[in-house]
Amino acid sequence: MNERIYEKVFIGGEWVVPKGDQVLKSIDPSTEYVWAEIALPGKAEVDMAVAAARAALRGSWSKFSATRRGELLAKLANLIRRDAAVLAELESRDNGKPLRDTRGEIDRAADWITFFAGAADKINGEQIPYRPDALAYTRREPIGVVAAILPWNSPISMYAWKLGPALAAGNAIIIKPAEQTSVTAMEIAKLIEEAGFPEGVVSVLPGYGAEVGAALAAHPDVNKIAFTGEHSTAQQIMRAAAGNLKRCTFECGGKSPHIIFEDADLERALQVAMHSAFRSTGQSCSLGSRLFVQRPIYERFQDQIAALAGKIRVGAPLDPATHIGPHTSAEQLAKTMKFIALGQEEGARLIAGGGRPLGLDRGYYVQPTVFADVDNRSALAQQEVFGPVLSMIPFDTEEEVLAMANDTQYGLVAGLWTSDVTRAHRIAHQIEAGLVSVNTYRPVHFMLPYGGYKLSGIGRENGLDVINHYTEVKTVVVNLSETPE
Ligand code: NAD
Repeated sequence: MNERIYEKVFIGGEWVVPKGDQVLKSIDPSTEYVWAEIALPGKAEVDMAVAAARAALRGSWSKFSATRRGELLAKLANLIRRDAAVLAELESRDNGKPLRDTRGEIDRAADWITFFAGAADKINGEQIPYRPDALAYTRREPIGVVAAILPWNSPISMYAWKLGPALAAGNAIIIKPAEQTSVTAMEIAKLIEEAGFPEGVVSVLPGYGAEVGAALAAHPDVNKIAFTGEHSTAQQIMRAAAGNLKRCTFECGGKSPHIIFEDADLERALQVAMHSAFRSTGQSCSLGSRLFVQRPIYERFQDQIAALAGKIRVGAPLDPATHIGPHTSAEQLAKTMKFIALGQEEGARLIAGGGRPLGLDRGYYVQPTVFADVDNRSALAQQEVFGPVLSMIPFDTEEEVLAMANDTQYGLVAGLWTSDVTRAHRIAHQIEAGLVSVNTYRPVHFMLPYGGYKLSGIGRENGLDVINHYTEVKTVVVNLSETPE
């Protein structure tokens, strides 16, 4: 029996029964059974949500002071904190991430929204010394109707990353969660209602990408798409969005280099390399999936990684002892297994994992897997697996590793470990990635701009930089002279 049924979706401040009779079925990846059903909106509901957002922008929302917008966001953040335990459990059921991860993720989502609550009344234009006899200044105005199209791997985080800055800057937003993981989006819609946002400021439209997502991307009255997902989807959205030149920000995939020099603090580097390779069952865009290790320490490091990978506890998401849960979907499990087979065909050496864990007969589980001696040009090293599959690659010199690190179509995150401070900065400056970390890995935080070079995306999220992607700059020039020109 399904444990959660949503017959209505949240549009224009009301719970609406979609006109069609289709239903979205959400599978619990630890049991492979459908556990939630959500009524599916279609084109009619997309039009309704866009019209409601537009009406809010023309009406009540535009009358809110920036401080008041921030207060509402802060209220929402506190409601998320209040319900964190329930939300974490729902997220673990829907997505498969262990409870220990989802608890932290929900708290961080609330922190993200709090940060942007505080930013709302600090979004300033500037006065420009254009001419002595003129007053020139800029205003930062909301872009308008934002459609946020979300992935399934970090549903609540991605929700917060987009909703926070969009509303702080005075936009209205339509959230489209991924079809695999819509349950927490539906629950947060209830909190948005409780917080008291004016109707139409936020609508939540679950649905398939090719239908609801594509309809939002092509809609002539949507002004901006904020997307996280695969770059091939971003390319489709970009084409659809061209009609009215929508502003677009894309956060896409990665194949991030994680570089360990022989002079590094090897004990710490080892622990962090493990975590960054297998966290979230490898379903993370910022995974340190290409581990470059300097030749003198390569063999020792390899043995230690293989031993530690074998100790990772793979298990049920709701079990507090679990380190990594199942994949979120059968498709993702099949993709990971395909890459494990491909790695072997390509001649990489399997040193840990490589199969399904014993005793877990149901659920999309896979063992943390390590390949050594991977060729950086191979498909395993070049394509995003999105599973717990680590590629180890030896190197001799700084020049060699830099060339290999940059030899990828992606450029999201890079990490390096060394005690040579000059080398650290030299490499950080030359690596083609939006975030480079030294002696740590992937410090993702609401204060730090995050986004990719190359196929990893366009634009940045987080930090105050992101506000630029949610505002239009208007320049106003007032002639102060007696003689108009
Ligand atoms: P996806 O591209 O398959 O789907 C993402 C969203 O796009 C979903 O909501 C989907 O319904 C929608 N969609 C699909 N086709 C569409 C279309 N034609 N028009 C409009 N919308 C459409 O990605 P995914 O599989 O959900 O997520 C995994 C990917 O996301 C990975 O590549 C991962 O690296 C990336 N990711 C990136 C970041 C980051 O911040 N850079 C964070 C998380 C995930």
